[in-house]
Amino acid sequence: MTTVDATRIKRQHTARLRRGDLLSTVVYFSVAIVLAIFLADGGAAYFTNIRDLATGVGIVTGLIGSDLLLVMLLLAARVPIIDRTFGHDTALAQHRKLGKPVLYLILAHMTLLLIGYGITSGFNPVAEAFNMIATMEDMGLAFIGMALMIVVVVTSLIVVRKKLPYQFWYLVHLLSYGAVLAALPHQFSTGMMFADGTWARYYWMAFYVGTLAAIAIFRVILPVTLSFKHALVVSEVRVEAPGVVSITMTGRRLRELKGKGGQFINWRFWAPKLWWVSHPFSLSAAPDGKSLRITVRDLGDTSHRLLTIKPGTKVSFEGPYGIFSEAARTTTKAVFIGAGVGITPIRAMLEDPLLKANDATVILRGTTAQEVFLWQETYDLCVAKHASLRVLVGKRPRGVATWLSAEAYSSGERLSTLAPDIKHSDVFICGPMQWTDLVVREAKRAGVPDHQIHAERFEF
Ligand SMILES: Cc1cc2nc3c(=O)[nH]c(=O)nc-3n(C[C@H](O)[C@H](O)[C@H](O)COP(=O)(O)OP(=O)(O)OC[C@H]3O[C@@H](n4cnc5c(N)ncnc54)[C@H](O)[C@@H]3O)c2cc1C
Repeated sequence: MTTVDATRIKRQHTARLRRGDLLSTVVYFSVAIVLAIFLADGGAAYFTNIRDLATGVGIVTGLIGSDLLLVMLLLAARVPIIDRTFGHDTALAQHRKLGKPVLYLILAHMTLLLIGYGITSGFNPVAEAFNMIATMEDMGLAFIGMALMIVVVVTSLIVVRKKLPYQFWYLVHLLSYGAVLAALPHQFSTGMMFADGTWARYYWMAFYVGTLAAIAIFRVILPVTLSFKHALVVSEVRVEAPGVVSITMTGRRLRELKGKGGQFINWRFWAPKLWWVSHPFSLSAAPDGKSLRITVRDLGDTSHRLLTIKPGTKVSFEGPYGIFSEAARTTTKAVFIGAGVGITPIRAMLEDPLLKANDATVILRGTTAQEVFLWQETYDLCVAKHASLRVLVGKRPRGVATWLSAEAYSSGERLSTLAPDIKHSDVFICGPMQWTDLVVREAKRAGVPDHQIHAERFEF
């Protein structure tokens, strides 16, 4: 590793941290702005007497809730600067984290306004709800938006989500856009804060239009345009092991597609029973400008059908996404730890030109030797990069929470013995969810700082 490369990695990491700070500040700032607009519009008057208190707090919770709801949508909109700064999975994790607080804020908004308005009109909160629907413009739609939001948040709770098929959960999740659109009109038609010609009205309009435009551009227009531009077709399907195939796709002007080894793409294969769903698969070879390759393990309906996908099948795509790639590097040394089909992004990252001789340690896990997929090419890349390579085959020991094979565990191997320089390395981990969590835990115990740990989980 030359000093130039080391400096480049450092600069890239510092720039990412700065962008992260800036984006986080923008979120806090957006909350401050809505509060400032509220106060500038005379909002403090609500807090001068008990009677209006519920209404005042109700308006504030509604404003903050709406602001954070738009932030949530932006976090899931695949906006490149967000994806490149935090990584797709971290952005989605933050999106999920905001779900419950936003629901509580908007529920509080509804309840407090029903109480507040009810006090003024002399109705109880339930009667006040009917009164509002009957007398206020767009209020019926707002209640429908609220109901849709409850459905979306409840189906996203981990306990419920795990029980739902992914596609069903995904379809229900699309209702969140319906929830926002249904709730939108009442803000402008009934909220006094959004009266014609006010700053508040322009600010919120810009925020809503900007968010919906970002979703339309990055989730629909760009993927469709890129899919047409690159016109991918399956060119080769190679069996790697029983139930595992590598699918190579070729297309037009692939050099212009800015993908990096280790990133993933949501793929849609235009074949019977496959065209209506898209699935994420990591690039298992660094893009070479002529083709893209993924390696798929049969884990369910779609992946099973992909084992027999025919060359010539058209493919559309969304991505590349994520920063499980050289983009996440913070230092010159790297430790790659993969299990099963989790080897795919790691195999691709070993081609990274920034990864120099003697700078990588690769640790592979498989329950059997056959499960160390893409073995020969990974081995060849390790030789070319003078990487240290360890393969740990076998089941995990019973009753011990470890990611190691029983044999490695009983012979005293640990992360720190397998990769003695781990504290000063970036650690890239990819494999099943629980296994990955165990490796992350041991890496932390071995003293690796959080910002040097990069994990890709092959589950939603
Ligand atoms: C970022 C990422 C990269 C991945 N890379 C690879 C790879 O290189 N090779 C590989 O073999 N597998 C990879 N996977 C896993 C792969 O996406 C799933 O195995 C596949 O989608 C399963 O779909 P299925 O219909 O065959 O099975 P299902 O029975 O529908 O699902 C099996 C599992 O996959 C999850 N899943 C299904 N669809 C999706 C989706 N659209 N998004 C997220 N999770 C989903 C389900 O929650 C379930 O846990 C990756 C997953 C993610 C999230």
